[in-house]
Amino acid sequence: MLIGGEWVPAVAGEWIDVVSAGQRSLTLARVPRGRDEDADRAVKAARAAFPAWRSLHFKERQKLLLQVADALSDAAEELSLMTARDTGNALRTQARPESQTLVDLFRYFGGIAGEFKGVTLPAGDGQLQYTRREPLGVVAGILPWNSPLMIAGFKTPAALAAGNTVVLKAAEDAPLTILKMAEIAGRFLPPGVLNVVTGYGQEIGEALVQHPGVDKVSFTGSTPVGRHVASAAGERLAHLSLELGGKSPSVVFPSAASDPAQVDALTSNLLLSTRFARQGQSCTAGSRLFIHADVYDQVLEAVAAKAGAMKVGDPLDETTDMGAIINEKQFDRIRGYISDGKAQQGVELALDCSESIPAGLDGYFQGPTIFSMGSNDWRVAREEIFGPVLVAIPFSDADEAIRMANDSHYGLAAYVWSNDLNEALDAAHRIESGWVQVNQGGGQVIGQAYGGYKSSGIGREVSLEGAMEGFTQMKQINIKIG
Ligand code: NAD
Repeated sequence: MLIGGEWVPAVAGEWIDVVSAGQRSLTLARVPRGRDEDADRAVKAARAAFPAWRSLHFKERQKLLLQVADALSDAAEELSLMTARDTGNALRTQARPESQTLVDLFRYFGGIAGEFKGVTLPAGDGQLQYTRREPLGVVAGILPWNSPLMIAGFKTPAALAAGNTVVLKAAEDAPLTILKMAEIAGRFLPPGVLNVVTGYGQEIGEALVQHPGVDKVSFTGSTPVGRHVASAAGERLAHLSLELGGKSPSVVFPSAASDPAQVDALTSNLLLSTRFARQGQSCTAGSRLFIHADVYDQVLEAVAAKAGAMKVGDPLDETTDMGAIINEKQFDRIRGYISDGKAQQGVELALDCSESIPAGLDGYFQGPTIFSMGSNDWRVAREEIFGPVLVAIPFSDADEAIRMANDSHYGLAAYVWSNDLNEALDAAHRIESGWVQVNQGGGQVIGQAYGGYKSSGIGREVSLEGAMEGFTQMKQINIKIG
């Protein structure tokens, strides 16, 4: 673990083996099993580093963050290879874009470090009234395993640019890239400004959430754990943001599929929105596919053909489209949902690659499954599966589609497919999700607002406005002049 600029084991001397997701017989490394006393050390190091870091002129923080960005960029291929080994995400389709996103986020927030600023009020000649955006103090960033570098990038550079110090808690299933990122950042940042700890959520994760020296908890993970983290942080009135799960709707109107060329472009983009290329292990996966009855068969057939052609295999192989599931527990969970979906009355299978697991691979691999003629009431349509499973449901008019899209306790992302501007915007505005994309399915743009409605979370830390809200507190100063 990196604490106060030094690489340290856990105080108790315990370790956790890190196994490669794509090759289960390969133990990549072991990392410390941190507990309360390690959380305490890391928080103390971050607190000690805070006064000097917050007092730096923003230009100094900017310079350092941009140096980190350059060094991360130089190491991008190494980080990508490590991501593929650690998480099982395929190198070409996922791991490289993830490390590039990390670099971009350090550049973006380094570049705008001077924008964490307040306003002056028009208070009359006898008054100078202004606000300051001051850092919160120590931010604990708790990370999931599905795309660790990208999510570390959502938190770390913004928190640091605003003048906070950070303790990151890497996910126990995929901690290695986060440690590597810290090693690179640690070449430039003063000791204690960025600390990284490892261990289990219920041990060192919980200790950070409970620690009185942590001013803000920025959590990304599942909704059930997020709920618990929120109540524990709320109990001591710590600042909090939550990026949680999703069950995002994707709504295809007939105008998006009026001729064969359109259907081809539509389905390529739609495939991106399913996040099958990350084995569906994405909180923004468009996992409920509502298709208008007039184009249902042709769109579904085309999506199924493209999804069925994806190559599932070794994450390190350049030709692989879809890598490995993170662990046995997640694999069993996905298989359980597939069995449940197959048992539903009236279900049809537009695509079933669930049994076509590539031979000779030593990991948990799962081809895509698309259920057809689904119901929005089925478990597979209500619960986050976090696997390559899509439920297609026909609809007959926009009201019905939007009603079903909004009939979910989640509200993270949504996708609308239409070539009618009014129809597309009407749907985009009525869908209850924090992020709606029209006619595209790719990933986040640096600096955009990103976060959930309903049980998908609280906070928008990837945008400048959201980062100002999330990583600073506002102070009002009123001065009598003359
Ligand atoms: P998880 O909730 O099991 O764990 C997330 C992190 O929390 C891990 O580091 C874990 O060790 C830690 N943790 C567990 N218990 C804790 C506790 N009591 N106190 C503090 N920390 C604790 O989630 P996961 O399985 O790692 O990730 C998958 C989930 O993350 C999915 O639900 C997915 O939708 C969600 N996710 C959301 C976003 C988003 O931006 N909204 C992004 C990625 C993943």
